[in-house]
Amino acid sequence: MNSIILVKVGEVHLKGLNRPYFEKKLINHIRTAVKPYGGVVKSAQSRIYVCGIDEARTDEAMKKLSKIFGIHALSKAVVAQKNMESIAGTVIDTLRAEGITSGSFKIKARRSDKRFPLESPEICAQLGGAVLEAMPDMRVDVHTPEHIIEVEVREEVYIYTSEMPAVGGMPVGTNGKAMLLLSGGIDSPVAGYMIAKRGVVLEAVHFHSFPHTSERAKEKVIELARLLADYCGPIRLHIVSFTQLQEAIYTNCPDKTITVVMRRYMMRIAEEIARANGAEALITGESIGQVASQTMESLCCTDSVVNMPVFRPLIGMDKLEIMDIASRIGTYETSILPYEDCCTVFTPRHPVTHPTLELIAQAEECFDASDMLRIAVDTAETVEITCD
Ligand code: ATP
Ligand code: MG
Repeated sequence: MNSIILVKVGEVHLKGLNRPYFEKKLINHIRTAVKPYGGVVKSAQSRIYVCGIDEARTDEAMKKLSKIFGIHALSKAVVAQKNMESIAGTVIDTLRAEGITSGSFKIKARRSDKRFPLESPEICAQLGGAVLEAMPDMRVDVHTPEHIIEVEVREEVYIYTSEMPAVGGMPVGTNGKAMLLLSGGIDSPVAGYMIAKRGVVLEAVHFHSFPHTSERAKEKVIELARLLADYCGPIRLHIVSFTQLQEAIYTNCPDKTITVVMRRYMMRIAEEIARANGAEALITGESIGQVASQTMESLCCTDSVVNMPVFRPLIGMDKLEIMDIASRIGTYETSILPYEDCCTVFTPRHPVTHPTLELIAQAEECFDASDMLRIAVDTAETVEITCD
């Protein structure tokens, strides 16, 4: 049987006059994703579909498509000729192929091609009759059917019985670019995922402190960016050497202030790199009260050094909720690999939990960081992360 993939869009539907702009972006992403499978993308009458993929690879292609932001659901549909005999025969063949031979069902028909001689209710009635005749153990139930058989009469006729949920959201590239502060932890990949889901292009910055942190810790972050790229497309990752600044902070600032001071320097550097690369906001994986550097007061101290919006999509979430999302999107297993992060290497024994801006500003006056800041920005290594 000749089959195609039907792509159902989510919020893109709500875009009114701007819809073609969102749809065009989405179609481009779909085209890139199905290219390795020889898929051809078409769009007509508010539907996007992919044809030309070998039957044996269709499931794999659908799995890949289910990660594209902007897609709400996918269905593998069988194509029938545009006459009732072919449609009825294909419905019955499809049911048999899927092992559906008993139980209740309902036919749901949609006639987008108004030239087709039968209207939707008639299509349903005739097909229902044909199924009952060919399969005596099936029965009609229009209210709570076990099986729904969808029939869409378009350029061709598409028949399907199930739907695979996809990630939803908006197509990446329809909502600007933001710089994700990507650590090797559980939270920041989830934060990046959530913002990219709203159509934002991600770039990322990672701070490492070689030799206090290892090459393997860096590899882990590259792998996390690669996992994110499956959803949001290529990511430019900036890897900043934080060693010199971190050692200076550790040596010169009062012990209890070093985490907040360190976070402020991370934000300053991230903002500079963001501006240089056309990103308009920063993203972090912070949530109120999770650790000492994420109390309200600490977050205020961190925020006050940045002059662009800081998106913290996890701000009101519990760790367990964040871990759930990390598992679902496939970053959790990599995040928990036990390689050290630069923040954990330089953790004070008693970090301040309610810092004031004066206390932190005083701590920062203990040394002149301007040269180190410049060097950190200028020597950042860039890795272009692509998706499979
Ligand atoms: P995560 O699980 O994302 O590492 P966390 O709970 O360990 O978060 P912190 O270490 O306080 O929290 O970091 C808070 C946020 O700061 C992180 O979510 C991330 O956005 C950013 N961050 C921390 N360390 C780094 C790093 N080495 N490189 C880039 N960003 C970092
Ligand atoms: Mg961390």
